Amino acid sequence: MLEIVPVPALSDNYVWLVHDPASGETVAVDPSQAEPVLEAAAARGWTINQIWNTHWHPDHTGGDDAIRAATGCTITGPAEAERVSKMDRIVAGGDRARIGAIEAELIDIPAHTAGHVAFHLPAAEIVFTGDTLFAMGCGRLFEGTAAQMHEAMRRLAALPGETRVYCGHEYTLSNGRFALAVEPDNEALIRRVAEVAAMRERGQVTLPTTIALERATNPFMRASSVEELAERRAAKDAF
Ligand SMILES: [Zn+2]
Repeated sequence: MLEIVPVPALSDNYVWLVHDPASGETVAVDPSQAEPVLEAAAARGWTINQIWNTHWHPDHTGGDDAIRAATGCTITGPAEAERVSKMDRIVAGGDRARIGAIEAELIDIPAHTAGHVAFHLPAAEIVFTGDTLFAMGCGRLFEGTAAQMHEAMRRLAALPGETRVYCGHEYTLSNGRFALAVEPDNEALIRRVAEVAAMRERGQVTLPTTIALERATNPFMRASSVEELAERRAAKDAF
């Protein structure tokens, strides 16, 4: 079983530390900064030996070079991430990565950025979705189209429902408020937003979510057409 720890970074980013006790390996997913990530790993006696980047944005890659310099780790990510840091291994959808004996399958999910990928670990029932799928939300369309985001949502929605989703930001409550504006009568959504509001009042991390929960409450995953997703994305941008 993998141990997964959130490291809060910048204003609302999460860097995910993934530790495999069987092999002793530790992966840092999307390290925006080096220091809090190195400290969190050291506090647990873990040494980071890999970084996985989902996309090039500096709040997901800004700590790459300093962590590699401190640990000698390797960096795996899409070609676009080389705008920020030299990749040791460039990957895209269909490629595989691994932590210990556990495989990650890469899925292309462009739209937020042109080369955005997800890391799906089927045996561990985990997916890292960066800034594409958030709890009750999706990323902004900086480098892609609503059609691409619709396809990305379709690919992620096809994963097993129990798959735990680890995304890059604590946007859950504001996403939930928007989702309620879209679907005010969705009972699962009403319950979830109340739970999330209580968690945030207690200062708790609201992640991971699951694919099943997103199918039930995420207005972007639930959009029935590209046009509906585009409308909702534009409305969220102005929300
Ligand atoms: Zn981003």
